[in-house]
Amino acid sequence: MLPTAILSVLSFRNIQSETFLAQKTFTENRENFQKELEDAFTKEQEKIFQETRASSLFLYELPKSLLEFGNAAAYKDVRGIKSIFLYNEGNLVYPDIASRRFYNTDGTANFPSKNANVQNMLGLVRLAYQNKDYNEALKYLKILEQAPRLSGFLQTDLTRSVNLLHFEILVKQKRHQEAEEYCLSILSQFLQSESIEDIPSTKFFFESAFTQILSFDDLARDKREAFWNLRNNFNRQLYHMETLSKHKELFQDLLEDEHLAKNGILFRTNEGISLLRMSSPQLSGKQVVIAEIAPDAFRARILERLKGVAQGWKNIPFSIIDEKDSILLGSIPDSSEILAQSHITSAYSWEISFYEKDMKEIRQESRQKMYLMYGLLFFSLITVILGSIFMLRFVIQEHKLLAMKANFLSSVSHELKTPLTSIKMFAEMMARGRVAKVEKVQEYSGLIGKEANRLENLIGAILNYTRMEHGTGAFKWEKLDFSVCAKKVFEAVEDIGVEKGLEFSTRFEPNAFVMGDYTALYSLAQNLIENAIKYTNAPGNITINVHNEEDHTVFSVADTGIGIASSEQKNIFNDFYRVGDEMTRSTKGSGLGLAIVKRVVETHKATISLSSKPGKGSTFIVRFRKVD
Ligand code: ADP
Repeated sequence: MLPTAILSVLSFRNIQSETFLAQKTFTENRENFQKELEDAFTKEQEKIFQETRASSLFLYELPKSLLEFGNAAAYKDVRGIKSIFLYNEGNLVYPDIASRRFYNTDGTANFPSKNANVQNMLGLVRLAYQNKDYNEALKYLKILEQAPRLSGFLQTDLTRSVNLLHFEILVKQKRHQEAEEYCLSILSQFLQSESIEDIPSTKFFFESAFTQILSFDDLARDKREAFWNLRNNFNRQLYHMETLSKHKELFQDLLEDEHLAKNGILFRTNEGISLLRMSSPQLSGKQVVIAEIAPDAFRARILERLKGVAQGWKNIPFSIIDEKDSILLGSIPDSSEILAQSHITSAYSWEISFYEKDMKEIRQESRQKMYLMYGLLFFSLITVILGSIFMLRFVIQEHKLLAMKANFLSSVSHELKTPLTSIKMFAEMMARGRVAKVEKVQEYSGLIGKEANRLENLIGAILNYTRMEHGTGAFKWEKLDFSVCAKKVFEAVEDIGVEKGLEFSTRFEPNAFVMGDYTALYSLAQNLIENAIKYTNAPGNITINVHNEEDHTVFSVADTGIGIASSEQKNIFNDFYRVGDEMTRSTKGSGLGLAIVKRVVETHKATISLSSKPGKGSTFIVRFRKVD
């Protein structure tokens, strides 16, 4: 208890200074929080840079031939980045199909108007196709395709339609291998061409061709994988080209920007697109990466990180506001002063503000802490008190038991000694030949026999008691008639009662079957009947009754003896317990009889009840479960 008391005093003093400390801690916490937010922002951004750099490395190693696509490591998308462009020494390296278009030619690549021949040729193709004369159709298509630009037959979008028709005829004729090769040859033409044709129709041609090739059932597995990767890479490149062509000036401008950021990163937002330029020291040499930012994903990614940080600082009022003045995180309190403010900028410029905390809130918080502490203290005090009471009761009980055992030992040894002394005395007298008369010899040997009997009984009781204490393991369970058992006991002790001047009335109803151990039930009946005899003075009556009820077999022993005070009634079943009055003390006993009775009752799942009045007598009733 002492440590708890000391703890209470210490905690109380601690709580008192809590309010003062709370305010001081708030300032420190706020500063740490701000630092953590800024760190988190920088770190998450740095992570995006690193991922972009790693992905850009893959782009340098684009495969050269179709099957290499099958083995190429998958390009990793970066969350927050839409597309990546690579430059070296000012030249676009990836996507390379776009390079000629935008940086080597003047961009005017379309061809003059169509020729009447084209219409004628297409008419012929249509006719052959309708007649299912596919070879004929292919012949005309080849003429159209061979030198379209030189003669100005076709406009670009028409070229792709002709290509698609050619491809589909090959598919119709089940010439899959040729169809694949045809598609690849158009691709290589496209990649090598001086000009980049109309992107939507090109996209349409390749998407249709790739989809059909991928559905060929005779396509080898590695080729299918290669075509799949080729399709993804190609689509990505086309998207890049579109972006480049749309924002040509912005890209060029950013590329040539002389401004050197310390970390090698430069942001530029214009024309509805946000770009990030990465150069030395992030990259080596004259390499430059320009990445298009996916605005929503980029913001979400950084915000998630900041949210994670804010979760650890629940009690500090703060807000993060974006460039459009909308609140991204936290909230703006109604009437609090701003304590500190900082900006975090990258592609976006956000403002973090921290606000004064209400003194009321601080007080309330420390009050809550105080209540919690009091609660804990109260709880531990109660635990300690209850524990002590429990321990005390345990110690007292243990002490009582020890005293009883000691009492039992001394009374048992006394009980053993008394008959032994008599036996020794009479035996000695006879041995020395001092007893001459035959009647005397008979009387003494009779006395020796009686004392030996007493000894035997006493030892029997002790043995019985220890047998019960060791439990039911030693029992032999059987179905037996309790009337027979009780009657045996009665016949053995009847003489003692009659000698004492007591009258008996008995009833042993036959077939009072119970499940039990014969020896245990015998000692139960013996102890109850012997007690009735012991604690009843003449003239007196003892009624022994065994009868059957609906579910039970009932055994009762009633006497008109000295009775038991109600305060003693619950004690007499305890081990070694004897009522401390004159009558009991003058009667021989061990205090074990009723303890044995109680154990037998418990092990046989029976019940025992007692009604008694001092001076009037006692009745013990045992109810067993009946067995048919
Ligand atoms: P003991 O060997 O002393 O008889 P028991 O355990 O049989 O031990 O009984 C415990 C005490 O209960 C006795 O000492 C006696 O005081 C009291 N007692 C038991 N049976 C009776 C009874 N039939 N009438 C009065 N007192 C009884």
